[in-house]
Amino acid sequence: MLDMTDFIPPAKPLIGDEERAAVDRVLRSGMLAQGPEVKAFEEEFSAHFGLGRECVAVNSGTSGQHLGLLSSGVKAGDEVIVPSFTFAATANSVALTGATPVFADIEPDSFCLDPKSVEAAITERTVGIMPVHLYGHPANMPGLFEVATKHGLMVFEDAAQAHGASLNGTPVGAFGTFAMFSLYPTKNMTSGEGGMVSCEDAEVARKVRLYRNQGMEKQYHNEVVGLNNRMTDIHAAIGRVQLTKVDAWTRTRQENAAFLSANIAGVTTPPVAEGAVHVYHQYTVRVPEGRDEFARALKDEYNIGSGMFYPVPNHELAPFANNAHADLPETQRAAKECLSLPVHPSVDQAGLERIVEAVNALAKAGA
Ligand SMILES: *Cc1c(COP(=O)(O)O)cnc(C)c1O
Repeated sequence: MLDMTDFIPPAKPLIGDEERAAVDRVLRSGMLAQGPEVKAFEEEFSAHFGLGRECVAVNSGTSGQHLGLLSSGVKAGDEVIVPSFTFAATANSVALTGATPVFADIEPDSFCLDPKSVEAAITERTVGIMPVHLYGHPANMPGLFEVATKHGLMVFEDAAQAHGASLNGTPVGAFGTFAMFSLYPTKNMTSGEGGMVSCEDAEVARKVRLYRNQGMEKQYHNEVVGLNNRMTDIHAAIGRVQLTKVDAWTRTRQENAAFLSANIAGVTTPPVAEGAVHVYHQYTVRVPEGRDEFARALKDEYNIGSGMFYPVPNHELAPFANNAHADLPETQRAAKECLSLPVHPSVDQAGLERIVEAVNALAKAGA
């Protein structure tokens, strides 16, 4: 018999006594805004993920992406190639610099940017390529760098969902001119809200620091027009504690994914590319026919939450109508078929078994 009482949510942020104590410590210090906790978090984040790079903390992943692009010199009139099959923040951050996001298609196995489609989208205005390591699976970086090198383009990384993922031994966040990690509550680790920018060189890092703080390095000696995108010490204190827990959570995600892939039949489970370490921000299957009914039945008949990331390709959204003519067949197909099942560390063995039983029964009924 299935236990129908417990709803299995699609995501669940994990906040413990250690995070509460860390926040209390900062509140008691009376120093709330960006300070020593942020500085320590930046250094610990870079070391923890083996980035070997300077990291700069900001108030959201989107801010980090925006400031990373500005600091890399992206400006009005430029084009940056991004996937359409992603969260809108990827293209928004490009558009906010004044540049134009141009959409390319994805590889069906990884759901990440396809180097061939990227190359076909290059114009004389293209300055960079920004792949997304979607769902926690690294994008095809060798293929993308081959195209970038051939055409003299920069590569930026949207690593919002991929803390700890790697490809051929290189961690994501250590490939591009800059990489952005999100620290939103549903991501693999959180600071409440927040973002981390990993920078290839010291000058890009210095510019991100300038832009996040009104253009100032030295108080009242503003060098550029900047924003207030600073992280608070309260948020950094949460993030520092989460850094000590994220590896264990990632291992549980990977074990959960392994169980699901070994036992699910009738829908396509997510493959992992050779040399890739997948951190399963999402565990995304493909339901070729009737995905929406499938998701509804999971919820109504089995009390299992799921997610569709993302049902509307970005090139079909109103702000990016200039791309509406784009022909992106794999993006269209993924948007119709994708269904993310609970894989987060709070799903226990009974939950995993219930997910398998439900998915297999629904797939069989639909076949
Ligand atoms: C979450 C996310 C972002 C934005 O991060 P925020 O911290 O929410 O601003 C950008 N890109 C992708 C792919 C994301 O999943």
